Amino acid sequence: MAKIRVEKPLVEIDGDEMTRIIWSMIKERLIFPFLDIDLKYFDLGLPSRDETDDRVTADAAKAIREYGVGVKCATITPDAERVVEYKLKKAWPSPNGTIRSILDGTVFRKPIMAKNISPAVRSWKKPIVIGRHAYGDLYRGIEMKIDSPGRVELVYTSPGREEVRLPVHEFQGPGVVMAVHNVEKSIRSFARSCINYALGEKLDLWFSMKDTISKKYHAFFREVFAEEVAARKDDLFRAGVAFRYLLIDDAAAQMMKQDGNILWALSNYDGDVFSDVIAAGFGSLGMMTSVLVTPDGKYEFEAAHGTVRRHFYGHLKGDTTSTNSVACIFAWTGAIRKRAEIDGTPEVAAFGERIERAVLDCIEGGIVTKDLVPLMEPRPEGYQTTEGFIDAVAARLRATV
Ligand code: NAP
Ligand code: MG
Repeated sequence: MAKIRVEKPLVEIDGDEMTRIIWSMIKERLIFPFLDIDLKYFDLGLPSRDETDDRVTADAAKAIREYGVGVKCATITPDAERVVEYKLKKAWPSPNGTIRSILDGTVFRKPIMAKNISPAVRSWKKPIVIGRHAYGDLYRGIEMKIDSPGRVELVYTSPGREEVRLPVHEFQGPGVVMAVHNVEKSIRSFARSCINYALGEKLDLWFSMKDTISKKYHAFFREVFAEEVAARKDDLFRAGVAFRYLLIDDAAAQMMKQDGNILWALSNYDGDVFSDVIAAGFGSLGMMTSVLVTPDGKYEFEAAHGTVRRHFYGHLKGDTTSTNSVACIFAWTGAIRKRAEIDGTPEVAAFGERIERAVLDCIEGGIVTKDLVPLMEPRPEGYQTTEGFIDAVAARLRATV
């Protein structure tokens, strides 16, 4: 059987623990036998990041900028415990954080749905995608604990301008205070990324803030978002994509009654919370894909979950694991399909779709990993090992060649 040729290179970013094991199985069994593909490989496994003083992470991000599409395995963000475990020079920063700061993008999280897996929320029939702004707010907050009476003020100084001073609170006793910020450039690029994604996937676009209460901070997000939507009004209309602005609490309640097909654009904190709510509502972390989309149209695909540490330690002890590889496989197919779309190679796109079909055929035929069993209707008799599931997908894939 002749392999299908992929015109341009794909950036491959390897990672850690259980997902690293799944990663090589996916390549060996689902990709290499079928595709003639030039992978630009970057090893972001923790030992390699440590060896290169984390230069490999920045190099990987730059490669995505150069080639346009990348696929990333989950990676460890080291804490003190990991520094000891891996004998690291230091606790290197989060690779996703580094990559995002270089590429400047928005993260979209989308559930993978199968006929025999019913979401916990009964009205959800089609995907609800979260678009999370990944800069500022709480995550760049400056905090202060107040232990005795005193005044806190907000002060703005700028050369050649008069100082602006706002009272925050006159403390009569102990308390706590926090300052957060955001920047127009980032909010604007977030809005553009969301609009591009909604257009690409033909999803209605919702955006939610709390501008009734926060009449400057949240209102600024609302205004910037509305301006970007207005600039693309004709494109949205032609694509049949509707835009709605809702207050965050209203949106949260309304979302429960929708049947899906919505991109829900959210600020950093709301996106953090609601992406987990949506993932839980649809089923399993192993069934959630994630893609970073930059305002200038570069893409990085990954699974939404981490390196599945607990399963990896089991694997090291020699236990048989049953880790769900679906989100990792869909990271690959997402990247392959995007590469094909950019290159104009429909046969490559069709192959990506064939892998996805093979995965869904397995799940819908009752061949699943352990995490999915309690979500299924009807309940399957048993479940597959990590490797067994990927082999089952490979067998289906070969049968459709
Ligand atoms: P995790 O990998 O998301 O896994 C947490 C738990 O969720 C697992 O123990 C497992 O539950 C379940 N789970 C997640 N993915 C699954 C899958 N594919 N199949 C079956 N079950 C799955 O989080 P973690 O183990 O707490 O974190 C490990 C490392 O991942 C951390 O060092 C963190 O820094 C990193 N991380 C990386 C990324 C990324 O690179 N994008 C994202 C998040 C976390 P049971 O144990 O109950 O089976
Ligand atoms: Mg979170």
